[in-house]
Amino acid sequence: MQGVTILGATGSIGASTLDVISRHPGRFRVTALTAQTRVKELAALCAAHRPELAVIGNPDLESTLRDLLKQAGSATRVASGTAGLLEAAQMPGAHTVVAAIVGAAGLLPTLAAARAGKRLLLANKEAIVCAGALLLDAVRAGGAPLLPVDSEHNAIHQCLAGAASHAGVRRLVLTASGGPFRQRTDFTGVTPEEACAHPNWRMGPKISVDSATLMNKGLEVIEASWLFGMARDRIDVVVHPQSVIHSMVEFGDGSVLAQLGTPDMRTPIAYCLGFPERIDSGSASLDFTRLGALHFEAPDLERFPCLGLAYRALDAGPAASIVLNASNEVAVEAFLAGRLRFTAIAGVISEVLGSESPAAPTSVDSVLAIDAAARRRAQQAVVRYQ
Ligand code: NAD
Ligand code: MG
Repeated sequence: MQGVTILGATGSIGASTLDVISRHPGRFRVTALTAQTRVKELAALCAAHRPELAVIGNPDLESTLRDLLKQAGSATRVASGTAGLLEAAQMPGAHTVVAAIVGAAGLLPTLAAARAGKRLLLANKEAIVCAGALLLDAVRAGGAPLLPVDSEHNAIHQCLAGAASHAGVRRLVLTASGGPFRQRTDFTGVTPEEACAHPNWRMGPKISVDSATLMNKGLEVIEASWLFGMARDRIDVVVHPQSVIHSMVEFGDGSVLAQLGTPDMRTPIAYCLGFPERIDSGSASLDFTRLGALHFEAPDLERFPCLGLAYRALDAGPAASIVLNASNEVAVEAFLAGRLRFTAIAGVISEVLGSESPAAPTSVDSVLAIDAAARRRAQQAVVRYQ
């Protein structure tokens, strides 16, 4: 039985992971589950999956979680806060850790899991965007593999068929759905509900807004540059509205390999959980005759300036990626709370990127310091843009 810990169990990736795990009761057992505030949902997940440990990120909710589990007669132990998250990430009984917390908040537990030698199933792209070199060092030190859950990177992993060297690869092609506003020209008055109404995927609110601005693709280009050791000029983005081709690799001989499937995160999650074996994910089969044509178009950097800002950050070096990510998190949170216009998200990020040029981080502490300083500036910019 393979022990699996899920950091961010109450989210969209957490739910898809637990769905796949439930299909293989003889193969996986749940070792720890974590959530930030959704204490009732976490208690319900504990009743269903019986982990050894449940962690609520917000320490104020620890006693509520304890009471709920006691009422349910659960044997699950309870912890909270950063210490609890770090404990969950390093559980001795866990073979695999699914990093599914949203945002840079997932960085410390993700690093801890990698360092502890857990097989790391990485959904938390912000962690690798902020601390690519440190995370890859931690994975090497821990000695267990990192497998990408993000569907594009998972597709590339599959197309590379585990090749250790990327000699012979000409370029990576990341596909983008284009999000809910692919054909929209006027962005005035965009509401959080409209921005979160993704045509192909059901995801958490932050990544949904990132998909609407195309920042998600920008973060994914940075993620791909770390994961596959590729320079920016060898990572292309193509808009593919059907989200059937999840990404492609072009080789020097002109061959292009693509990974296809219905847009369902259970597919990349099952690939990672079972690797190197293939296990059932519960996803539907692709019906090619009903699919008809697949379409492709170039991304529009004028209507979607966030993608260009991510390129700018990648070119400027690792510290700029932290600034990009932090200011984006602040701007998206403000937009979701009704404190910032959709069109001002790129303005806030651009302003903070232009004003900060810190040196490349050499430690986790320096990553966190750059992140905190960028958040402060972004908060000030949000107030000015209101
Ligand atoms: P979500 O908002 O649905 O869930 C986020 C989870 O993180 C929740 O369990 C929440 O309790 C926890 N969390 C939030 N803030 C936290 C904090 N400060 N400390 C500790 N835990 C916290 O998000 P999601 O859509 O599941 O995405 C999770 C991650 O996976 C993101 O980094 C996202 O970019 C990535 N990802 C998601 C998808 C998808 O289809 N949802 C696809 C690819 C990559
Ligand atoms: Mg993706």
